Amino acid sequence: RAKSLGKARYEVFSMTMRAQSIALMQIETDLRRAAERNEFLVYYQPIVDLSTLKIVGFETLLRWQHPERGIVSPSEFMTVAEETGLILPISWWVMAEACRQMQRWSKVFPRSRSLSISVNLSGRHFQQADLLLNLRSILSETEFPAERLRLEVTEGILIDNKEIAIATLEEIRAMGIGLYMDDFGTGYSSLSYLHRFPIDTIKIDRTFISALNSEESSATIVHTILMLAHSLRLKVVAEGIETRQQYRVLQALGCNYGQGYFFAHPLSAPQVEQLFASQSLPHLIRPSPKKHNAHGLH
Ligand code: C2E
Ligand code: MG
Ligand code: MG
Ligand code: MG
Repeated sequence: RAKSLGKARYEVFSMTMRAQSIALMQIETDLRRAAERNEFLVYYQPIVDLSTLKIVGFETLLRWQHPERGIVSPSEFMTVAEETGLILPISWWVMAEACRQMQRWSKVFPRSRSLSISVNLSGRHFQQADLLLNLRSILSETEFPAERLRLEVTEGILIDNKEIAIATLEEIRAMGIGLYMDDFGTGYSSLSYLHRFPIDTIKIDRTFISALNSEESSATIVHTILMLAHSLRLKVVAEGIETRQQYRVLQALGCNYGQGYFFAHPLSAPQVEQLFASQSLPHLIRPSPKKHNAHGLH
């Protein structure tokens, strides 16, 4: 009896594994095809100065315009993209496309010339010998100023070879490119290495921001992160601000910048153009908390 049960279980297990690996292979095939068919898009989410409510820049976020499924977010394919290494060429494409786009916008919308863009890199980029070479060639091809480019990295890049990663970050900084520490607070050793990390801004992960309404301890944690960051002369971006109350608390705590659905969802390029055209930049956006957001991206 036990034997047959065990066998049945094994079969169920192997089928699940098989179905899973087929699904993953399917995503990989689709991703390669998507690249060939130019189905990737860059979305731009405003980052806002919390004391003036003016846009200071955009985080660039990858989107996949799937022929049947519509706009697909990275959460649905990031694991496969990371595991297959496809995230490398895709992220370089995001950077090049965003730099080209910003250069086009700078001709039409002069006020956009002061805005920065940040691009997410994965840990795998730091295992690439040609990381700096790729950065330099994108900047020289697009003529986008290094000073307006920021890279978003997580502490995950430190796992394999801390010394090499830090040396690479220092070279990136020497090029004039800014460095954001993304998803701050979610890693295991954030505080202990922060002073050794050659970054200029940290992005507090949205798990702390979303808990701001309900848990008093979250306000304490956010306050502590802000004091620590500011004492190290680092700037702070709060990620995932969704309510007016969160924005108010963060502003009162002296957080420098904010990003989140309360201000704006990630926007397509045409939506950014509407934003530029609708008012002169720097732009003031103050949606009411209950306003339905037409962009509908999550
Ligand atoms: P991330 O870098 O931490 O990006 C922030 C994520 O939070 C984005 O998810 C954004 O759409 C979402 N977000 C922004 N405001 C809010 C809010 O108020 N509430 C909530 N619930 N979410 C908010 P997205 O676009 O799905 O991207 C997920 C992750 O995929 C990113 O997290 C980043 O790690 C990765 N990613 C996105 N684009 C790229 C890329 O071009 N290259 C690489 N290597 N990774 C990317
Ligand atoms: Mg990011
Ligand atoms: Mg983040
Ligand atoms: Mg992330």
